[in-house]
Amino acid sequence: MKIAVLPGDGIGTEIVAEAIRVLDALDLSFEMETALVGGAAYEAHGHPLPEATLKLAKEADAVLFGAVGDWKYDKLDRPLRPEQAILGLRKNLGLFANFRPAICYEQLVGASSLKPELIAGLDILIIRELTGDIYFGQPRGRRTAVDGHFPGADEAFDTMRYSRPEVERIARVAFEAARKRSKRVTSVDKANVLETFQFWKDIVTEVHKDYPDIELDHMYVDNAAMQLVKAPKKFDVIVTGNMFGDILSDEAAMLTGSIGMLPSASLNSSNQGLYEPSHGSAPDIAGKGVANPLATILSAAMMLRFSLNQAEAADRIESAVKHVLASGLRTGDIWSEGTKRVGTREMGDAVVAAITKKTITG
Ligand code: NAD
Repeated sequence: MKIAVLPGDGIGTEIVAEAIRVLDALDLSFEMETALVGGAAYEAHGHPLPEATLKLAKEADAVLFGAVGDWKYDKLDRPLRPEQAILGLRKNLGLFANFRPAICYEQLVGASSLKPELIAGLDILIIRELTGDIYFGQPRGRRTAVDGHFPGADEAFDTMRYSRPEVERIARVAFEAARKRSKRVTSVDKANVLETFQFWKDIVTEVHKDYPDIELDHMYVDNAAMQLVKAPKKFDVIVTGNMFGDILSDEAAMLTGSIGMLPSASLNSSNQGLYEPSHGSAPDIAGKGVANPLATILSAAMMLRFSLNQAEAADRIESAVKHVLASGLRTGDIWSEGTKRVGTREMGDAVVAAITKKTITG
């Protein structure tokens, strides 16, 4: 099993280091190789995704990714900005299915801005299509309007599009994932207004015929955004397009109140995947040893489950995280009165200790 380790920038190096210590504690045999990505790669090689990094990622069974970016790169030409590395990896590895679980840990119920009874026990999975939709559709650009409300004015335009195979494959991913959960899928669209999403809805309905054991319902995106804050627990698996998924997955993530806790996975059709925390490189706290490493540690657990076929080891990590939270340890982002504030390294130590069954202090 080969893992490409790409820590990236900012807190990326600190949180990935803890995830690696956790993987090491499992006593499984992995080959791990580290490479530069993002701003760090730009500084060293003049490009955020150097050929050698891309080659390593392509050859690995899985990529463990930290985060990229820093405000100091904001003035670079777009293709050289750190965030382009993620788009390049998604494109080159064909990572079309993004899994974003939003789980509310019992001990962190108070961290949400919603009432505890709305989110206690929350466990939903958003599956976002990642390589199509308005983000990649051509043509796009700027021009002088020839029609519309202001002919002759400058205008900009993008193209929303999905092909049948793109919708079919993401629908199958969602139905398969639902089979391992509570067998319910909500497909989110805007079929009442957009042709692309009427097409999406039709195809999801067709694919559903192959999954009679799964309950499917359809919901417009505006209603889904509302229901997520009104009654989030009524969802189980949500499947949607790239843009709606971008927005809804961030909304769902914040239901749990703690961005430092949320893992994610992006998979291709051969289950090769890129695993990363949902948050960014947090330049404001980088180098201070205070970042929460749990989202990255939980991403490593997803990696074991989805790409490396090690479900039992994934369970061990997830149980260790729950155990550490129950013991009262908290990084600053999830700290509350009555709990013990710890840094990145101590949080990693505690998870390692829980895995190797040593006593946890705190
Ligand atoms: P961010 O997620 O980096 O930070 C938002 C806030 O959350 C900050 O206050 C930060 O301190 C806090 N935070 C984030 N992760 C945390 C953790 N593990 N523990 C404790 N606190 C944490 O988002 P931002 O500030 O908007 O962006 C910073 C940089 O990250 C930008 O350059 C942006 O482009 C980049 N970014 C990268 C990714 C990625 O690599 N996938 C994703 C989002 C943003």
